[in-house]
Amino acid sequence: MILLDGKKISAEVKAEIKIEVDQLRASGGKIPHLAAVLVGTDGASETYVGSKVRSCEEVGFRSTLIRMEASTTEDELMQVIEGLNNDIDVDGFIVQLPLPKHINEEKVTQAILPNKDVDGFHPVNVGRMTLGQPSYISATPYGIVQMLEKYNIETAGKHCVVVGRSNIVGRPMSILMSQTTAFSNCTVTLCHSRTKDLASFTRMADILIVALGKAEFVTADMVKDGAVVIDVGITRVADATKKSGYAIKGDVNFEQVAPKCSYITPVPGGVGLMTVASLMKNTLLSAKKVIYK
Ligand code: NDP
Repeated sequence: MILLDGKKISAEVKAEIKIEVDQLRASGGKIPHLAAVLVGTDGASETYVGSKVRSCEEVGFRSTLIRMEASTTEDELMQVIEGLNNDIDVDGFIVQLPLPKHINEEKVTQAILPNKDVDGFHPVNVGRMTLGQPSYISATPYGIVQMLEKYNIETAGKHCVVVGRSNIVGRPMSILMSQTTAFSNCTVTLCHSRTKDLASFTRMADILIVALGKAEFVTADMVKDGAVVIDVGITRVADATKKSGYAIKGDVNFEQVAPKCSYITPVPGGVGLMTVASLMKNTLLSAKKVIYK
């Protein structure tokens, strides 16, 4: 079993980005600038945004964090988005999800200009990605593809089973794995909560990508010997032995499943770190105007 080391690979990706930023700086070019909007004080969101801001520092980007009260209205948030859309100094920005219940996430996602949508959630970017056209690919699926690439994992002709069909992870992941590009070309099955006899599908997977948000849901009997297992899940589980009072668990029971795998991602230390590195990559692409001229 080989561990797909998100820490190592994300550090490599970030080092590659830093070289490009250093070159931009040396040639007097514009330093990439990522902005993040955080509405409210959700603990997990604070952690995610914090790691995004820290990553900007690591790679040499400029970053701006805009904090807004949980009571912020949709109109107030829309005004901030409009400001960021029009700010020529900001190359890309994200609005950290989830948003408070009174704000319509779909409306917010669609208000971000596609050329600044470095999270890759806007319908234009999703559509372009689906058609195999240049686009910002949402950071988690993009990070997983980069991981497969860095470990040179053979995917062509393999059966990839994705569990979870959310717009930000499962569905784009299933589309990417079915594309004709390198590190895809899979036969793909997309499973969800209405799938009957889920284990009968997961057991057929050469590559199993799990994004359902239930701690340690996938057990050894659900996995084929030699499978590549990518665990996207991040769930906080109460743990009195930890200073924080909780432990982070993936969707896969790592202890049970790891011995059966050819490759597996740990949680933490796997996909999550790649997600942040991919956001940095999308921001660099935006600053260099690679996707949208
Ligand atoms: P969502 O809640 O949006 O989607 C979960 C999906 O899992 C849904 O499609 C749902 O089916 C499906 N599902 C739920 N229960 C079952 C079940 N028993 N059997 C089969 N399918 C099931 O979650 P996200 O996609 O946003 O996130 C999934 C997990 O990944 C979470 O733990 C999240 O924290 C984590 N995550 C991690 C990231 C990272 O960087 N590592 C980034 C983003 C998310 P249905 O559609 O029918 O409801």
